[in-house]
Amino acid sequence: MKNSNNNKNIHALGVVLLFTLLFIVSGNICAENPADSITVDREVISQVSLLQGLTFGDYNGSIPVARLKELGDIGIGTFNALNGELIMLEGVVYRAAYDGSIEIVPDEETIPFSNVTFFDADEEIQLTGIDSVGDLKTALDKKVSETGENRFYMIKAEGTFNTMNVRSELPQTKPYKPLAVVLETDQTFFDYENIQGTVVGLYCPAYMNDLNAVGWHFHFVSDDRLYGGHVLDLSAETIEVSIDKTDSFAMVLPDNEMFNTFDLTVDQSEDIKKVETGEGNEPVQQESSDEQEIARKLAEELIEAAAQVEPEITAVLQSLESENARLVGLEHRLKSEDSLTRKILSEAHDMEVPPEEAAAVIGDVLRYTLCIDDDQYVSVVDKTLKAFAEKNITVYKFRNRWGGDGYKGINTNLKTGDGLIFELQLHTPASFDAKELEHANYEVARSETATEEERIAAEAYAKEIYAKVPVPAGAPDYNWEINQDK
Ligand SMILES: [Zn+2]
Repeated sequence: MKNSNNNKNIHALGVVLLFTLLFIVSGNICAENPADSITVDREVISQVSLLQGLTFGDYNGSIPVARLKELGDIGIGTFNALNGELIMLEGVVYRAAYDGSIEIVPDEETIPFSNVTFFDADEEIQLTGIDSVGDLKTALDKKVSETGENRFYMIKAEGTFNTMNVRSELPQTKPYKPLAVVLETDQTFFDYENIQGTVVGLYCPAYMNDLNAVGWHFHFVSDDRLYGGHVLDLSAETIEVSIDKTDSFAMVLPDNEMFNTFDLTVDQSEDIKKVETGEGNEPVQQESSDEQEIARKLAEELIEAAAQVEPEITAVLQSLESENARLVGLEHRLKSEDSLTRKILSEAHDMEVPPEEAAAVIGDVLRYTLCIDDDQYVSVVDKTLKAFAEKNITVYKFRNRWGGDGYKGINTNLKTGDGLIFELQLHTPASFDAKELEHANYEVARSETATEEERIAAEAYAKEIYAKVPVPAGAPDYNWEINQDK
């Protein structure tokens, strides 16, 4: 409201408007006449689409980054295909990608959902002793209750954060699955310590329940512009917070088939909560700290045991590499401690057993993929399993999936003399590409929250992808008797 910067806005006089203006601007008008569709007003929170559209799986970008920059210089959101978390700061649009990295996003990339405004600080406060994101919310809520709970606020919190826990997500492929399903499988988490940066936060009043998430929503970008994401938790001794209180709210509606046909009468508040808190099927934050502690310890032990035998196994596979057979993703052969901890907790949860039991049956702490050219496929697969047998590393599970009409490839688990189980996938270049392409779609077919229609569409899509994979000669008939190598 009280603007220190240059401001064409009449409200700069400090007049308190007692109501919030609501503009609804349709997306196609926007596209025809972008400069005129919304008057440039520095005191407007502009929103692209609804968070509820996103929770339904509408990740179709409707306006380009260039247009978003005309609506503000600070904000949060996401990108077409849900390709990472959006943070706009000082007019620059950053992507916090699924791998935790930050990049500046080109003007042509499109935005399915975002909130932006022009930042003019009305007030600056210092907050100390922030132990959690909950503390930050409480402190900011106190401020909001003094200045008006039914307004919109954009804040900037700068400082050194003792801890910063953020998430991003893998870009999605069509048919898009609902956001809650994506978050169950495709969220990525990053934990930083002593990191300097800026939190951008949006506050939506309670009456925004059907259009966005009520309350605070924070994204983070580090000062060195290397790390960032959607904030799940944080702590800091001291942060400098600038608060921009705004007078009005405007919305840009997308114009696409998916958006136009949503049934927005469905209550999505549970899904919205998951989006906010990052609680998909990732129970790390829900488990008691005792259980987490146990799972982390188990993960540490499993990784240590795998790391001991890993060089020998890697050497066997590397000796089999040739022009016709290549190891892919070798750098990811050992699961990270974070991801293994989450897997142990999530399996324990699903199987309703203690973490120790769940950990005992995890067979892919160490995993490899060998990609073999079609004409050599069967002979190299055979050579590989025999090479392991010679080292007393035996096939524990063998699944040949070349015969059916779905997934293609041979997946095996092998067991070392010491009893360590690892995974080896044997692909052709085409079956490997199909697996990668289909990955994002895969969970829909098994998801409990997916509708029947979504499930059928996902299955049809998977079949279509796998049907295009050429089957190497002899592959469907290749078998390895589990006991032949004992
Ligand atoms: Zn977010």
